[in-house]
Amino acid sequence: MTDHCCDMMRDQVEAVCDRHDDPFACPDALIRFSAEFREYGLIIHDGGTSSVTITFCPWCGRRLPESQRDRWFDEMERRGIDPWEDEVPAEFEDGRWLASLTQEQRG
Ligand SMILES: [Zn+2]
Ligand SMILES: [Zn+2]
Repeated sequence: MTDHCCDMMRDQVEAVCDRHDDPFACPDALIRFSAEFREYGLIIHDGGTSSVTITFCPWCGRRLPESQRDRWFDEMERRGIDPWEDEVPAEFEDGRWLASLTQEQRG
């Protein structure tokens, strides 16, 4: 479970449309949350899968968590995994890798 800044954001991120499996195909979907990078993106409905990363919540105005994209790639490198060539471990496909790192740091 990831905490989001406000109810609006949580509703958006967790919304499941019964007509569209793919949020990029759903005109009601506004936000795409990448749990593995902890990035919030504004979906661009141009028929593709574009999104613009946002740093502030459009509803409550709070600053969103920092992107972990660079750290994700650092961790991959540390493990000797090439994300383009090798299979990415399941924990790196969502937010679990971050949770385990946070626990490590807490000791
Ligand atoms: Zn829909
Ligand atoms: Zn918010």
